[in-house]
Amino acid sequence: MKNSVIKRKICKAVDDLAGRIIALNKSIFDNPETCFKERESVKLITSELRAESFEITAPFAGVKTAFKAVSRGKRARPKIALIAEYDALPELGHACGHSMIAASAFGAAVAIKRAVGDHPGELLVIGTPAEEGGGGKIKMIKNNGFKGVDAALMAHPSNKTRVVARMYAISHLQLTFLGKAAHAAAFPDKGVNALDAGVLFYNGISAMRQQLNGEARIHGIFTRGGDAPNIIPEKVVMDFYVRALDRKYFEALIKKVAQCARGAAKAVGCKVKIKKIGHTYDPFYPSYPIGNAFRANMKTLNIAEDRFGETEEIGSSDIGALSLVTPTLHPEYAVGKKTDINHSRDFLKAVVSPRGAGAMLAMTKALAMTTYDLLTDAKLLSEARGMFLEQRKRMG
Ligand SMILES: [Zn+2]
Ligand SMILES: [Zn+2]
Repeated sequence: MKNSVIKRKICKAVDDLAGRIIALNKSIFDNPETCFKERESVKLITSELRAESFEITAPFAGVKTAFKAVSRGKRARPKIALIAEYDALPELGHACGHSMIAASAFGAAVAIKRAVGDHPGELLVIGTPAEEGGGGKIKMIKNNGFKGVDAALMAHPSNKTRVVARMYAISHLQLTFLGKAAHAAAFPDKGVNALDAGVLFYNGISAMRQQLNGEARIHGIFTRGGDAPNIIPEKVVMDFYVRALDRKYFEALIKKVAQCARGAAKAVGCKVKIKKIGHTYDPFYPSYPIGNAFRANMKTLNIAEDRFGETEEIGSSDIGALSLVTPTLHPEYAVGKKTDINHSRDFLKAVVSPRGAGAMLAMTKALAMTTYDLLTDAKLLSEARGMFLEQRKRMG
């Protein structure tokens, strides 16, 4: 059968599944579960996939709320994975729209299975929890959860439609300056002021910003600034995020920030402890060849892409770690107005709006068509592999 005919069949299958895709988004949305607590969400998604004869492994890769769903094809390779995220935010529920990511992954996988039947290669849906700060994918990678996966893709709701964007590596540093308490009026000379060291550090970072390469971000707050005005502060805690696009530069930047903290402590005569909190997220290196295939499929669906640079309005995600393991695509798509930005109350509304549903279904089609391309087009896959290896070499 001709490629275009099969792709039309895939899109028709998405249309047939529309009610279930929308309902799955809504049921995950209505029961928001945060970081590694996504038990019901996993049940909702895997029961839908099981009903379509996917083999389910849950828990998966050493993570309780991760899963793998497999549809075996004619051959064992290639293995193409649709990524499903489904964790919510504290207080804000699904204001990052991960419920839509899961619903799209389900819809795309089932549409291929239905339309192509005996598809070549292995079709996977891999459920990755705790993207919002927990680094679910990082744990799963450590436990070989993505071993043998030839390419991975997902589609993330956003305030804009953009196929290829980069993302920052990120590390959370906690700096604790330790001085000596003393009565601030009677014995100021007996104290060592940890707050002074914190302020010097803050100003040192502000000065450093002038020399950053334009592809980095350093931002932070005081989480403990002292205990009372009449006590020379003995303990000051600051939480900082350091981000950069390039991995080598990122590592150098972390060292600079630590040096700045040690310098500030030395100037005041106090101590500083520097601790990394949680996981370091790697930078995201998108797969441009898969991106081009995705764009071509979007074009046949008349989905327009917004004009945004690939480093404009970007954040960080544990998908970065995955992009260092296998060629990965992480397109984003608008679900509401430009002003409906992720992690806002407006975005929350857009995730379950009719307009959002339309965008989700259109992107599910593009996702399914591109997954089909990867399953069948050896040239595309080897191009993606080639660029992936090149990117890996460049970052050392
Ligand atoms: Zn988010
Ligand atoms: Zn997100």
